[in-house]
Amino acid sequence: AELDTLDIVVLSVILLGTIAYFTKGKLWGVTKDPYASSIGNANGVKAGKTRNIVEKLEESGKNCIIFYGSQTGTAEDYASRLAKEGKSRFGLETMVADLEDFDFDNLDAVPSDKVVMFVLATYGEGEPTDNAVDFYEFISGEDVSFSGDNDPPLDNLNYVAFGLGNNTYEHYNSMVRNVNKALEKLGAHRIGDAGEGDDGAGTMEEDFLAWKDPMWAALASKMGLEEREAVYEPVFSIVEREGLTKDSPEVYLGEPNKMHLEGTAKGPFNAHNPYIAPIAESRELFSVKDRNCLHMEVDISGSNLSYQTGDHIAVWPTNPGQEVDRFMDILDLTHKRDNVISVKPLEPTAKVPFPTPTTYDAIVRYHLEICSPVSRQFVATLASFAPDDESKAEMTRLGGDKEYFHEKISVHHLNIAGVLKTVSKGKKWTNVPFSVLIESVTKLQPRYYSISSSSLVQPKKISITAVVEAQELPGREEPFRGVATNYLLALKQKQNGDPNPTPFGATYEIMGPRNKYDGIHVPVHVRHSNFKLPSDPSKPIILIGPGTGVAPFRAFVQERAQQAKNGENVGKTILFFGCRRRSEDYLYEQEWDEYKKVLGDKFELVTAFSREGSKKVYVQHRLKERSKEINELLEKKAYFYVCGDAANMAREVNSVLSQILAENRGITEAKAEEIVKNMRAANQYQEDVW
Ligand code: FAD
Repeated sequence: AELDTLDIVVLSVILLGTIAYFTKGKLWGVTKDPYASSIGNANGVKAGKTRNIVEKLEESGKNCIIFYGSQTGTAEDYASRLAKEGKSRFGLETMVADLEDFDFDNLDAVPSDKVVMFVLATYGEGEPTDNAVDFYEFISGEDVSFSGDNDPPLDNLNYVAFGLGNNTYEHYNSMVRNVNKALEKLGAHRIGDAGEGDDGAGTMEEDFLAWKDPMWAALASKMGLEEREAVYEPVFSIVEREGLTKDSPEVYLGEPNKMHLEGTAKGPFNAHNPYIAPIAESRELFSVKDRNCLHMEVDISGSNLSYQTGDHIAVWPTNPGQEVDRFMDILDLTHKRDNVISVKPLEPTAKVPFPTPTTYDAIVRYHLEICSPVSRQFVATLASFAPDDESKAEMTRLGGDKEYFHEKISVHHLNIAGVLKTVSKGKKWTNVPFSVLIESVTKLQPRYYSISSSSLVQPKKISITAVVEAQELPGREEPFRGVATNYLLALKQKQNGDPNPTPFGATYEIMGPRNKYDGIHVPVHVRHSNFKLPSDPSKPIILIGPGTGVAPFRAFVQERAQQAKNGENVGKTILFFGCRRRSEDYLYEQEWDEYKKVLGDKFELVTAFSREGSKKVYVQHRLKERSKEINELLEKKAYFYVCGDAANMAREVNSVLSQILAENRGITEAKAEEIVKNMRAANQYQEDVW
């Protein structure tokens, strides 16, 4: 797009307002090519690509490498935004890198005129994300050693750190804290503060924005960088492929990689390569009209996938048709939605986050998170592409003013199309380079579900228990509807006889690209977790699982019933389940009776129905009532498990447990809290919360 004077002015305002352009990690990623045909590549590492950081920086002419430890894509996004901002504001030669693609034993050899950034999410109970495990073990290890002999070892290293955490978890932001500590101990020099974003308080985005400006100032002064006028430079070129149509066999219409395109999909199935699994069975679990909870049986017998009781299954959703249409419409893409394009990186370390050639429609439907909330930074970025001056001014204001943004955008839960339409009063945004959207809209993420079946009982069928997300939100006429769960609801309706399911009016391309998901299939992969039954079945277990938090506990009880049938000595199993009303959302009511028949007094179900009495009763209240018994079980080395809501329930259960210990053991609450902490450290207390 050509820039007129006003553009320049607005861009400068944006600059002064410290707003940056940003992109995604996968665009700037180094060695991954998840779309290539061979499985080796599906896991990322291409033959011949270096794992040596110093070599990589040299060969690509970079002076700033931004590593991410990411589980759900947010840390990766932030890393990319830093890369983009570093480049556009300060002329840093940035690149984003996946921690698992590099070795760290020569971190000491990174020259002091370069900078290494770490954007690190903390996962689960203070754990590193999957891609950060090796790095974390290395850097925090007792006998970490480097290839050189500097003293202190990392005296050369200049680093920046930001963590993504959730204060409702016990080990808040422990990843960034521990890595920061380890780096300091090794003599590295941090620039700016080690930032911490808090998802629990819902302030992640604002925490990030507030942290990065002082950090940039400190970095600029340390490295002698001069701020320059940020001008948008596309990361990708979009090439229209006139010779191809959407029916050409080489065109991706939503297929996740080349094997899927060619119909030769095979394992290993993982986060880069889903298995298109048949849904063997599906049904509704609630008995009320206005809320839905799905039970689904996903058949993995045709794959080499396996799972263990307590693992998670990831579901790869597609966006609802109406949202795809809305997005296309406001960005004036409707007339060319089926045009075939190739997307090429204009920057050697950038990577296209989906396989091409493909169509606009396929990109928006299968690869972009178009329904999620919009970040303030993105709104600021889009200002310079507004269709008129008024919209431009409004976008700039929204981008620069936290309170205004909250009041106009956040409370209405507007997604991208919603923001654009509201701001321009319906006028189409014809000037937004498609590259900006690819750079800035998060890649559509798989959703995880705690597997609700036992692998001992049904090793080749995975159960899912998922509540269909429909939130009444103030400031919205329609309830907000979750992407993955409404897609699953459509699949369930299809399986139960509706040829054209439209849950709450939404349509989904449930047949998949080129009808490849015909016959009710869903793309999935399995993620192994540490949430596990004690290996000795005779150990007592205490399970706290209200709502869909009961999912993994259905699996646990199912497993124990099978073990009892097999003649094993099964320990006491006590399950605390809570919901609104017995007659509405009592999950698996009949099944518990069946397990009871097998397990006898080894199994006890304690229920809390929050809306039946005059006072709200939750699982933590029931737990408290059983104080003495719970303490006795714990003295017998019972394992304690909590699953479900991280924000309130898990926290309250934790504190109730401390109270129980204090009261029964005649110790102070502080001492009791210490014991609970130790139980967690020893895996005697396990959480699977979200
Ligand atoms: P999404 O579209 O992802 O929306 C989710 C929420 O995000 C919305 O409710 C809303 O609060 C917010 N949101 C999204 N878009 C906007 C917007 N534009 N504006 C404002 N807010 C917005 N769930 C289960 O039901 N059962 C399980 O067993 C289960 N196990 C899990 C295990 C793990 C390890 C994890 C991490 C999660 C688990 N979940 C489980 C949750 C599940 O992964 C999904 O988050 C959930 O099903 C919602 O997905 P969705 O795509 O339907 O909703």
